[in-house]
Amino acid sequence: MEKVRTRFAPSPTGYLHIGGLRTALYGYLFAKKQGGDFVLRIEDTDTARYVEGSVQIIYDTMRDSGVMYDEGPDVGGNFGPYVQSERKDIYTEYAKKLVELGGAYYCFCTPERIASLKDEEGNVKYDKHCLKLSKEEIEEKIKNGEPYVIRQNVPESGTGSYHDLVYGHISVDYKDIEDGILIKSDGMPTYNFANVIDDHLMGITHVIRGTEYLSSTPKYNLMYDAFGWERPVYIHLPPIMKDAQHKLSKRNGDASYEDFVNKGYVKEAIVNYIALLGWSPKSNVEKMSLSELTENFSLDGISKSPSIFDETKMKWLSGEYIKAMTDEEFAVKAEPFFKQSKVYGKYDLLKMASLLKTRVEIFSEIPDKINFLEEFGEYDSALFFHKKMKTDVEIAKIVLPEARKAIAELKEFTFDSVHDAMMNVVSKLGMKNGQVFWCVRVAISAKESTPGGVMEIAELLGREETLRRLDFSIDLLNK
Ligand code: GLU
Repeated sequence: MEKVRTRFAPSPTGYLHIGGLRTALYGYLFAKKQGGDFVLRIEDTDTARYVEGSVQIIYDTMRDSGVMYDEGPDVGGNFGPYVQSERKDIYTEYAKKLVELGGAYYCFCTPERIASLKDEEGNVKYDKHCLKLSKEEIEEKIKNGEPYVIRQNVPESGTGSYHDLVYGHISVDYKDIEDGILIKSDGMPTYNFANVIDDHLMGITHVIRGTEYLSSTPKYNLMYDAFGWERPVYIHLPPIMKDAQHKLSKRNGDASYEDFVNKGYVKEAIVNYIALLGWSPKSNVEKMSLSELTENFSLDGISKSPSIFDETKMKWLSGEYIKAMTDEEFAVKAEPFFKQSKVYGKYDLLKMASLLKTRVEIFSEIPDKINFLEEFGEYDSALFFHKKMKTDVEIAKIVLPEARKAIAELKEFTFDSVHDAMMNVVSKLGMKNGQVFWCVRVAISAKESTPGGVMEIAELLGREETLRRLDFSIDLLNK
């Protein structure tokens, strides 16, 4: 069997949106699953939409997310160049061939004439005016330097059909397709032409892209057929929606891969979640690494209907990845976020990691959860009230001096010794565990909830700071 080759063909128009990354990911997964090649091609022929720096964003995002290509502008390959603006001569050559084959023609119509073809709604459908020109007339005009474009010669009747692996039978009437421009007057090809030439010359077997191309594909097929080339297999992907009405897009302020990384999502979780946007695995296991995704990916799991981007679900998935990390891994991956907190460099990173791992879903929640280790001061004594724990300010007034004393008297200050000291207070006062532990934890954190309890926090703070906080809280209650 022919080797599978897929491609991702983004236009460098600013950023790599989530939908783009999903297209890339599916192309990657499909190729890798079959032991095939995944190609990156930069489609930069629309110079008006070109945004400086965006090619680099595409390279960086693909590398960082692991959706890595085998061939592309910055890694090379046997089918280059992989940037369309560097392939101008190739398009010219094939456009001329297509003219000879009758699949295209030169058009010298002026913008004024084109404008005069507008219907009531302002739409223009070119009337094949220049198709009638003789070979001599064309040569004459070119010799005289008249500007021209090359247009596709679409049949005036009949239908173009093909089978899409997701959407099934697709059929479009040729009368609804205009003789679109293939080569512009500046010699640059349009997407409509370049995608066909490149997919063929680059040996692409499966074209995976968004549904916006579903209905233009018949006109690409006309070109494959005219050249006598085999058509690729088509796989169009359902749109990703922000909600029932709106597509997800950066223009609506929706985040890109990079934004989510900066927001503290685990990278693997972003990729994992994106894979599930429009595809469902056969099993109900949803947490999958890139290699597990590759193993499980199959086209029949791709859905026809739009999928809604659910950030809460992606967050949950991110939390699952975090829980599965070792403390060391967490400490390394979360380091940029620890750095944003007030505690960075002041406490044992691994100890904080083990406390936080089960308590955050995205890394950006870290600073808020641990800043109490550095921020301690006036707080509302109502925090001592907890109905279920059966505690309140009066209980705290009894517990705290005893706890202070027990901790001060410890020979060694460790997790276990602090625990024993607290249990001694429990039995001495004849209280419930919760009454002592709640009061002491609040007294040394000034927080209603904290990652970790008395022992974990005391261990991080050290004896001196633990005692200082207990003293502060005892004073606060006596005020
Ligand atoms: N450059 C096109 C885009 O960004 C690619 C479409 C395709 O994959 O053929 O939409």
